[in-house]
Amino acid sequence: MAATLFHSTNGQSPAVNLRVALMAGQAPDRGLYFPEQFPTLAPAEIAAFAQLPYSEIAFRVLAKYTEGILSADALAAMCREAYNFDLPLERVYDRVHVMRLDQGPTASFKDFAARMMARLLGRFLHEDGKQLTILTATSGDTGAAVAHAFHNVPGIRVIVLFPLNEVSVSQRKLMTTLRGNVRTVAIDGKFDDCQAMVKQAFADPTLQCIPLSSANSINIGRLLPQSIYYFYAASRLAQPGEPIVFSVPSGNFGDMMGAVVARQMGLPIRKLVTSVNDNDAFPRFLATGHYEKVVPSRNSVSNAMNVGHPSNLARLVMVYGGRMDETGRIHQLPDLAAMRRDLFSSSISDERTRVTIREVWTKYQLLLEPHGAVAWRGFQDWQAQEALNGLPAVILETANPAKFPEEIEKNMGWSPDVPPAMAAAIQQPEDFDRMGAVYEKFRTYLLQHHTAT
Ligand SMILES: *Cc1c(COP(=O)(O)O)cnc(C)c1O
Repeated sequence: MAATLFHSTNGQSPAVNLRVALMAGQAPDRGLYFPEQFPTLAPAEIAAFAQLPYSEIAFRVLAKYTEGILSADALAAMCREAYNFDLPLERVYDRVHVMRLDQGPTASFKDFAARMMARLLGRFLHEDGKQLTILTATSGDTGAAVAHAFHNVPGIRVIVLFPLNEVSVSQRKLMTTLRGNVRTVAIDGKFDDCQAMVKQAFADPTLQCIPLSSANSINIGRLLPQSIYYFYAASRLAQPGEPIVFSVPSGNFGDMMGAVVARQMGLPIRKLVTSVNDNDAFPRFLATGHYEKVVPSRNSVSNAMNVGHPSNLARLVMVYGGRMDETGRIHQLPDLAAMRRDLFSSSISDERTRVTIREVWTKYQLLLEPHGAVAWRGFQDWQAQEALNGLPAVILETANPAKFPEEIEKNMGWSPDVPPAMAAAIQQPEDFDRMGAVYEKFRTYLLQHHTAT
């Protein structure tokens, strides 16, 4: 089998293998890497997943991309190390389940991708004798997952930018207490400002002296591992070949693109419900075919989804035959009818998010945090239009409620239990830098920091 090639969504850079795409983060033409042709799993290969542990499913999915760049033994070891925690699937009613992706070290689904990517990248760098600075912008959870995953990986320095007033105290402490090769910078601005500063640094010729990469979901190394839990859930809940429904709370659309990858590889997905908070650029686009970014992005209780222009839409549009550049301009319209057949999206206000947290608790004694509540409500919105007809469905709970104690307390009158790993991290002293949302300041910081080490 030939190695899978990754093309740029902007169509101006040469196609590359996983190793090159992972090291680069973004394509030279500012597009995002994505396969034009996906490797597929035969129905029998997918059916076999029912008997396998998570780490082995991870190995069989990822092996389709690492042919010729990583030995099977090395990949298998990485999968075992990265996925050493639980992934509960809780039945709520009928065949409707909640998948709790919050059992990793930073209690969000981002651990799944970050832990795999850190291992892959660490190994490739070591083989090449290279060093790399990972720049990442976070709206709350990416920074913590990336910082933990890359902490103490030789040859890697991590710089995390986060919007000072848009992350919860627990989210912040999970990034600012690590030190070592991890630096965190609080930006007086919004997540969009952080993301714009990171993107500008990548495109800045005066920073060519510093090898930079991204651990945001623009990096294909983040995206591919996010397809695995869709295979896993289906292997546990669906009959061989039976379609399944997923509902994913979406911000930058990296998580939902994991489901799209799984579908391209052969997993039958009946509907992918991808709901957003007040940042409603995507549901409006799906309804009207007209794309307009939300500028500035809107704050909401599901703060990890405060994204006015989801970067991964460029990839989604490519899957449906269209082209969107990094600014959100559509050069070629995707097949909207096909998108509407496969996807459903609604925008869930903070008010509906809060009502949902209370309702789901009262009805099922199931505690959701704001992101999971958006997914739950979006699924119910879809259910109001289309029948599930007995198929299995999975609503993704992407963070632990203990990351949002203030919000849970306000709605429920009590605070959720804090997982032990999180409790330990939160005790440590914090250390972070602070700057205005001005790119030149950030460039100076990067250069100074670079010479200092
Ligand atoms: C990042 C995040 C999301 C959104 O995921 P995207 O891949 O950006 O769409 C949802 N929930 C939580 C808890 C997150 O941390």
